[in-house]
Amino acid sequence: MIPAGLVNDLSPLPALQPSSWQDQLKSAFRTPRALGEYLELPEATIRAAECVGQGLPVFVTRTFADRMRRGDPADPLLLQVWPVASLSHQNAASDSFCDDPVDDVSAQAAPGLLHKYHGRVLLVLSGACGIHCQYCFRQNYAYSDLPSGIVRWQESLQYVESDPSITEVILSGGDPLMWTDGQLERLIESLEQIPHLKRLRIHSRMPIVCPSRVGERLTHMLSNSRMRVFLVVHSNHAREIDSSVAAAFGQLQAARVVLLNQAVLLRQVNDSVADQAELCERLVDCGVLPYYLHQLDRVRGAERFEVFEDDGLRIIEALQKILPGYAVPRYVRETAGAASKLPVVESSTGK
Ligand SMILES: *Cc1c(COP(=O)(O)O)cnc(C)c1O
Ligand code: SF4
Repeated sequence: MIPAGLVNDLSPLPALQPSSWQDQLKSAFRTPRALGEYLELPEATIRAAECVGQGLPVFVTRTFADRMRRGDPADPLLLQVWPVASLSHQNAASDSFCDDPVDDVSAQAAPGLLHKYHGRVLLVLSGACGIHCQYCFRQNYAYSDLPSGIVRWQESLQYVESDPSITEVILSGGDPLMWTDGQLERLIESLEQIPHLKRLRIHSRMPIVCPSRVGERLTHMLSNSRMRVFLVVHSNHAREIDSSVAAAFGQLQAARVVLLNQAVLLRQVNDSVADQAELCERLVDCGVLPYYLHQLDRVRGAERFEVFEDDGLRIIEALQKILPGYAVPRYVRETAGAASKLPVVESSTGK
């Protein structure tokens, strides 16, 4: 045993308070230069990113950046957030990339509420996220039209209340965990008063990019809900899930939250059998079931991330041969006007 005095001698610094999730976001990298220099990327790589005028600005937490390989411009975590100039118009495929490929606009039934599928409505709570993903399908969404503040959500709550076929509310965004615990508490309390609601689902990348978001107040709130709570985390690569993320998963599981993952199939990020197998195994070893692998939505600016459906199908077939059935996600894509997300199948392959 080490005598207490010796421990004190070895640790002259006062114990640091663990920083809050808001502090983590405040200190996030917001420019290619700040992130690039931190990661010791080549100067030419940083300069090229600084010249990119379109797309989402860089936003990456330090904890997520710490999982990237230093000096490697091809790191799969970095590629998701690093600005690259879009393809030129000479590329025919880019003609079918548009602002609203999934037709969210016509599914809007009340301000910030999308009712596309039977029994489920989706609330677009926030336009903000704990990371900016360059492939994001909501990057052109008119978030400024969102109701702001809990009072303005009354119209959406009334919509849910008036339709007893709705049994599940999905909190989405942006990232719904950008709302404070206090705001979420008030919303969830209102939802709980609607008797036909049985399930609450939260789609969030915060447990991955800012695991300190999963605090006691949040887990307490979720474990005390009368609704069954599902949290769909969005992880695209096994290396995103370090021990701090696994610990956040553990806290949520202790709060009886069912954890699922959805990933997006992304070129050069996770488009190999090895990448997907590693991600799925890492997830199930953390008690998180792979739910969906999404074909990229064809949103303008995301062209460079597209993987052909034939290649995606080959990856899924290979996964089925090496993983237990529960570890293989459903490979789906969103089709405007369809009654659900549709499985990607051989005959539907369109390049
Ligand atoms: C994806 C989505 C859902 C949920 O679909 P599931 O197949 O249940 O995961 C619900 N509403 C909207 C608008 C969606 O885009
Ligand atoms: S976390 Fe999700 S909504 Fe936010 S930028 Fe990334 S992909 Fe888009």
